[in-house]
Amino acid sequence: MKALVYHSPGRKGLQDMPRPMLKEATDALVRITKTTICGTDLHILKGDVPTVSEGRILGHEGIGIIEEAGTGVTRFRQGDRVLISCITACGKCEYCRRGMCSHCEQGGWTLGNTIDGTQAEYVRIPWADTSLHHIPENADEEAMVMLSDILPTGYECGVLNGCVKPDDIVAIIGAGPIGLAALLTARFYSPADIIMIDRDDHRLDVAKKLGATKLINNSDGKALLKIMAMTFGRGVDVAIEAVGMPATFEICQAIIAPGGHIANVGVHGESVPLHLETLWSQNITITTRLVDAVTTPLLLKTVMSGRLLPKQLITHHFPLSEVISAYDTFGNAARERALKVILTNE
Ligand SMILES: [Zn+2]
Ligand SMILES: [Zn+2]
Repeated sequence: MKALVYHSPGRKGLQDMPRPMLKEATDALVRITKTTICGTDLHILKGDVPTVSEGRILGHEGIGIIEEAGTGVTRFRQGDRVLISCITACGKCEYCRRGMCSHCEQGGWTLGNTIDGTQAEYVRIPWADTSLHHIPENADEEAMVMLSDILPTGYECGVLNGCVKPDDIVAIIGAGPIGLAALLTARFYSPADIIMIDRDDHRLDVAKKLGATKLINNSDGKALLKIMAMTFGRGVDVAIEAVGMPATFEICQAIIAPGGHIANVGVHGESVPLHLETLWSQNITITTRLVDAVTTPLLLKTVMSGRLLPKQLITHHFPLSEVISAYDTFGNAARERALKVILTNE
């Protein structure tokens, strides 16, 4: 089968790989129908994720059809259409029982990381019963792909950890797919204002269409001053960091109002100063989280009811055979005006 394989920092290839086989009774083999590329895949290709070894098939998002289910799989059978969660959960360990499946003792974020992933014709899914979801009849399949990772990530790490409430002023730093997913799901709680900060006008235009009430282009580096002016010097109640850079986390610390929440979503590769000299007395909460994907059933219902329209995040389509071009497009997101790309395996 064809698969996108990581070789070493900067090197990848579309190549023939052996079709995966079931290893445990609780595994399922899924024929991928649609998958996508995540910002995390670009981090892997830069060499930022040392757990990914040479020869690994990348990808942790997608949908497909059960080709074969192990004898221990009870919720799925051959032919079922399934949504693959980016988090594999055994459902039994201490962390899974606490709803912290990202730290599952036998799973967590393994797909496209420590085991082969979804940017391929087939993928082996361990703990299938608790790591896959049925796709309802009449579901828009492309919208389903947004439920593998970005929507639960934006919602759990940004909105739930940020404790967004109806009277809040929310600032979301970073209008990429994850920041926009946080914006879409923050709107469940109708906060008073959602300020979106990015350096790309196209992404800010999209944010406006998706419900941001104020936009700040930070190419001049003056976001901090602008946010403080917009809030009459008070700052924001919730600051969601969806970039993963020291400068953007510093903005969050500078704009947070007393009693506020800083919810980190970004993947950080270097240390960031923590300004306790000013924050110690401000009653703030700082949270970090790797998505647990425990809200996927809830989000699936909101998509099916039409309250959440994640398809708006999809900008490009490619066949799986053109995955290299898809990476080029996604890797030059500003120039290509790319958000999420859909790869289809015919
Ligand atoms: Zn991802
Ligand atoms: Zn577990």
